[in-house]
Amino acid sequence: MTTSATDQTQIAFLQQQPVKMLIGGQWVAAASGKTFETINPSTGSVLAQVAEGDVEDINQAAAAARKAFESGPWPKMTPSQRGRLLWRLADLVEQHADELAQLETLDNGKPIKYSKGADIPLTADHFRYFAGWATKLEGETIPVSIPNMFTYTLREPVGVVGQIIPWNFPIQMAAWKLAPALACGNTVILKPAEQTPLSALRLGELICEAGFPEGVVNIVPGFGETAGASLALHPDVDKIAFTGSTEVGKKILQASVGNLKKVTLELGGKSPNIIFPDADLKFAIRGAMTAIFFNQGQVCTAGSRLFVHKSVYDQVLSGLTDVARKMKMGPGIDPSTDMGPLVSQEQMERVTNYIDIGRREGAVTTTGGKYAGSDLAGGYFIEPTVFDNVQDEMTIAREEIFGPVVAVMPFESMEEIAARANKSIYGLAAGVWTSDVKQAHKMAALLKSGVVWVNTYNQFDAAAPFGGYKQSGYGREMGHAVLDAYTQTKTVWMNLR
Ligand code: NDP
Repeated sequence: MTTSATDQTQIAFLQQQPVKMLIGGQWVAAASGKTFETINPSTGSVLAQVAEGDVEDINQAAAAARKAFESGPWPKMTPSQRGRLLWRLADLVEQHADELAQLETLDNGKPIKYSKGADIPLTADHFRYFAGWATKLEGETIPVSIPNMFTYTLREPVGVVGQIIPWNFPIQMAAWKLAPALACGNTVILKPAEQTPLSALRLGELICEAGFPEGVVNIVPGFGETAGASLALHPDVDKIAFTGSTEVGKKILQASVGNLKKVTLELGGKSPNIIFPDADLKFAIRGAMTAIFFNQGQVCTAGSRLFVHKSVYDQVLSGLTDVARKMKMGPGIDPSTDMGPLVSQEQMERVTNYIDIGRREGAVTTTGGKYAGSDLAGGYFIEPTVFDNVQDEMTIAREEIFGPVVAVMPFESMEEIAARANKSIYGLAAGVWTSDVKQAHKMAALLKSGVVWVNTYNQFDAAAPFGGYKQSGYGREMGHAVLDAYTQTKTVWMNLR
């Protein structure tokens, strides 16, 4: 089965060309009239022309978001009404689950079994979880030591929020950003990634259908250097929430200085995944496989440094090599596909370059390491790749590759491995595989990362905080932790004398 024209034409959303952007409740062309192509990475063919937002569109979106924040129905809505809108949006996402999953898979390349089984249900779940928070944003009464004073706090929205998201989980990233911002009463300008704008724009239609007032959510597709950069710089945007590379995260921070925007950053990683000899090895090998190859390795938490105790190293290496070889590569839209293409030609070249560097520096592939698109309609396919003979100092063991490439390395003791695992500029996530509970807790305490998974990997839930240590960013998404990022505290003093 291939990604045929039929798959695309079945999606009504793709009939409108070019796809427009959402500003102030209206679907509009770019002010410049320009459009850009979004590509199906399984074939390299053009999926759709999309309106290309730039400075002027961001200005208009910021004006619409400001107006909606200050006046009109949104600031007058009760928390319960905001919650209901989010709940209705979750229902609409579920009602259109098949269409959204297909759109996501066609635009990003990910296997349809994952977009159907994970991306879309988790998106609906996210809106529903934060629908519940809208009515629970409580202030406090403060027992100050000044007589006759009644002092309390209010939690208020931050204002106009710019949200810049990446291409690896397009609709989920939109939900992670939009749901808490809206639950807290902010208004939003969302810039999806240039590679994958479609599901966010379709979500925009559902947001309108759910009944959010005009201007509360504005969606401006376009390029990072233009639309993204002007959003990050805009003097009337109060906060930026960003997910993407550490390099661009630093630019966002610099751009925020002008009006001291509040900034939260969810950035890159080089996550250690550590297998102790007492682990259930069959289970751990499968875990190591999904840790690195899920979503073609294009996951900020990808378990790209696999540390294996030397006593079971050979067994794990050959087991992982074996399961990697058996993964079925193919177009994402094929239900039997385990691994789809990378998102773009640029990303494929980037990953290929890392594989070449790995070999030049002395690492050896036990499987994979090659372009696999010749037999697959010319899409951006790279084989699942396992590297042996890796040293900690090698480029492939230090830098984020963001592709299906794992560096496997042996270790001898717990103290040694904790130090080596932590020797990274990143600190996003880590995995530990062991049947010794004490060892698991000790490792969880020693690892310097925002998330530690024990005998599991890549678990996410709307209720569980997620974010990085070190250069993996700051601020947290999900759970009640994210509410701090989208509210500010006002302290009210009343003299009762
Ligand atoms: P980027 O960090 O460039 O992209 C993330 C988002 O930021 C996109 O929407 C992008 O726009 C936007 N952007 C880019 N430049 C700017 C800017 N100057 N100002 C404001 N916004 C900007 O990631 P890439 O897509 O270039 O991927 C490169 C690498 O980044 C990957 O190989 C991976 O290592 C890492 N990455 C990490 C992710 C994570 O989840 N932590 C996600 C994606 C990438 P545009 O639409 O034009 O790309």
